[in-house]
Amino acid sequence: MRAARLIVPVVLVVVVGVGLRQYQAGRIVAVDTGFRGTMGTWAQVIAVGPNAVAESCAEKGFAELVRIDEAMSDFKETSELSKVNRDAFREKVPVSEELFSLLQTSVEYSRLSDGGFDVTIGPLVDLWRKAGRTNTTPTEAQLAAARAKVGYEKLILDPADRSVRFAVEGMRLDLGAIAKGYAVDRAIEILRQGGAVGGMVNLGGNIRTFGRPVGDKRNWRIGLRDPTDPNHIQLTLRLDGWAVATSGDYERFVFVEGQKVSHILDPATRRGATGLTSVTILARTGLEADALSTTVTVMGKDKGLALIERLPDTEAILIEPDKPDEPIFSSGVKDFVIP
Ligand code: ADP
Ligand code: MG
Repeated sequence: MRAARLIVPVVLVVVVGVGLRQYQAGRIVAVDTGFRGTMGTWAQVIAVGPNAVAESCAEKGFAELVRIDEAMSDFKETSELSKVNRDAFREKVPVSEELFSLLQTSVEYSRLSDGGFDVTIGPLVDLWRKAGRTNTTPTEAQLAAARAKVGYEKLILDPADRSVRFAVEGMRLDLGAIAKGYAVDRAIEILRQGGAVGGMVNLGGNIRTFGRPVGDKRNWRIGLRDPTDPNHIQLTLRLDGWAVATSGDYERFVFVEGQKVSHILDPATRRGATGLTSVTILARTGLEADALSTTVTVMGKDKGLALIERLPDTEAILIEPDKPDEPIFSSGVKDFVIP
C-alpha cells in the first residue's frame, strides 16, 4: 500500500468516537471515517450534518470509493476494467455508462494535451515497473514495442452500443491518473444526496470539499506539504467547494540503474516525465484536478501553465526539480492562499 500523499487536510477539533470520529458544533456534527485503505492508497471521508445523517453519509461515501475501486482497478481481475483489458482486442466489450463516460472524458484530456495524457499508457507502465523490479533499463526495441501498444487513437469507443475495442493487440487501459478524482466526485455526490450539509473526501491526496466545514471553522483548509520536508506545510489553501490534486515524482517512482523514473510517463519520450517535481491543480471537480495534475506534469511548465490559464476555474501550483522553495503559481492561486 502506498503512503498517503502530500496533501494533508489541516483539521480540527476531536470529540467522541467508536470507530468513527466526531466533531461537535451544536446539533451539527462532523463524522470522520479516519484513513482506511482503498484504491491502492489511503482514503478519508468527513460528513457534516445531524448526527445520524453524518454517520450514514460518511460510511456510504466511503463505500462508494470501494465500489469504484472494484469496477476500475486494473489490478483486480474481477473489475470491469480488467475484463476490457482481457477481451477488447478480440471483441467489442460493452461497458457500464460510468466507465464509458470516463473513457470518453479521458480521450478529451488526450486531445487537450496532444496525447500527453493517455489512459492507454498501460504497456509502458508495465515495462517501467518491470524495469524497476529487475533494475534494468529497457532497450529501445522494448520501448518501441510498448509504445506501439499505447495511443488513445487506437481506443475505439462506440457510443451506439457503449462498447470498447482495442485496435492493437496487447493494449491495456490504466485509469490511475483519473479514477481517484472521479471517485472523489461520486463520494461527494453521495454525501449531498444523503442530506449532509458539508463534507470532505480525501483519496490519496485527491481532495474535494463542499458546504459547511467542520465545527466552528469558517473554511475548509488544506495544507500542501513541502516536497523536500514532509513534516513541513509549505502553503495553506482555502478550498471551499473546490477540489485539489497533486501529482509528484518524489513519492512514487522506481529506481532503474541509479536513475529515478517517475510513475508518470510521457508517451512522446516513452520515459518518465522529468520537467516538474510536483503539480498541484485546483479545480471544481476531483476528476478535473486529478486528470490535469497528470496532464500538466507531462506537458511541462510552459505548455502546462498555458493550458491552465486557458481553462476556466482551474489553477496550478508547479514545483521544478531544482527549485523546491519557489512554487510557480497560475494567475488565480493567490485567492486561495491563506497567509
Ligand atoms: P497518483 O496516482 O500518484 O496520485 P497521478 O494522478 O498523477 O498520480 O497518476 C499517476 C498514474 O497514472 C500512474 O501510476 C499510471 O498508472 C498513470 N499514468 C502514468 N502516465 C500517464 C499518462 N501519461 N497519462 C495517463 N495516465 C498515466
Ligand atoms: Mg492524476
